[in-house]
Amino acid sequence: MSARPSLNLYDLTRDELCRQFERWGFSRVHAERLWNYLYLQLADSFSPDTMPELPAKVRTRLTAEASLGILPTALETDSSDGFTRKYLLSLQDGERIETVLMRFTGRVTACISSQVGCAMGCVFCATGQMGYTRHLTPGEIVAQAVHVARQLRLQSQSSSKPRTQSSKLRPHQDDMAPPRLRNVVLMGMGEPLHNYDAVMRAADILRDPNGLAIAAERITLSTVGVVPGILRLAEEKRPLHLAVSLHAATQAERSALVPAAKKWPLDELMAACRTYSETTGRRIFYEWTLIEGKNDTPDHARAVGTLLRGLPAQVNLIPLNPTSGYDGIPTRSEAAKTFQKILAEEFKLPSTVRQRRGIDIAAGCGQLAIAN
Ligand code: SAH
Ligand code: SF4
Repeated sequence: MSARPSLNLYDLTRDELCRQFERWGFSRVHAERLWNYLYLQLADSFSPDTMPELPAKVRTRLTAEASLGILPTALETDSSDGFTRKYLLSLQDGERIETVLMRFTGRVTACISSQVGCAMGCVFCATGQMGYTRHLTPGEIVAQAVHVARQLRLQSQSSSKPRTQSSKLRPHQDDMAPPRLRNVVLMGMGEPLHNYDAVMRAADILRDPNGLAIAAERITLSTVGVVPGILRLAEEKRPLHLAVSLHAATQAERSALVPAAKKWPLDELMAACRTYSETTGRRIFYEWTLIEGKNDTPDHARAVGTLLRGLPAQVNLIPLNPTSGYDGIPTRSEAAKTFQKILAEEFKLPSTVRQRRGIDIAAGCGQLAIAN
């Protein structure tokens, strides 16, 4: 494999890019232009056609010392539901990850990965079943969102009439603008709080108002329950949405499904969640993968209702998606409705049942894995 210059531009915040330009002896204006090319034009090369307003000397330096960090698509698959597309993306070292574009009424969401594989070993999760290979870099996390944003633009360009000169302006200012990526969920492969620093840097880059400008409240991070990470999020008052994968309301039941619960027991996890909500004033989503007979009975609903009593919470129920390494059965919709009803009526606890998307192409929650 050919060596790529070591500086991945997607690793840098806007300020860092400006400082890098200063070190190179280039003006801040050119750094800002490059930033616009990266995140507003979604440029895919340093060529004069793509970046016409950069002087040749800047382009030469970039070509020699920096890379765009674009992740080539190894495979792309459409779900028969017509709303979900899964991308298998290649990393520089030959590893691969999956990223999913999901369309819902009125919004598009990118589901992005934070690691190659996962070390947490949840029994029902395909990523857990493949084991842990490595953390993603901030640039590799950012590149997934850029990829989805670029795909959205390409899709809308191919389905609309030729664009006028004025529509080449910043996409935010353009009336004819294609649907913009506004929602990102860190729910792909990996445990984001196991890769805390890279994920937070990536979130900062995604949020930059001069770039992709994804609002903090539209970035959702889902964790298996890494207690030190939750406490750090609270301490740093990170303005992200937090989802915690609960799945069971007793330590014994939870550690049978989620081995990480042995390291971070349920009582410590709930204490951390309480601290998080008290410190940030924010509600947490508690995810609950519904598995028939295991955690979906009325007694289980009452147990989670009791556990979350007094906490600002919403429960996200996810009917189990099939994976090759686990033979549990998804809860039927009747039982899911009863579960919801108990939470609502007996505990005033709001809940949703997550829409099933991309199951036929293994793009649903917990189905992302790379078969080598
Ligand atoms: N590592 C993080 C985020 C990735 S998984 C976490 O565990 O929270 C995103 C969500 O999908 C989690 O709530 C996870 O428990 C759930 N999930 C994993 N495997 C699943 C499966 N087979 N069916 C349904 N949900 C699953
Ligand atoms: Fe890792 Fe999340 Fe899958 Fe558990 S559910 S193995 S933490 S990706």
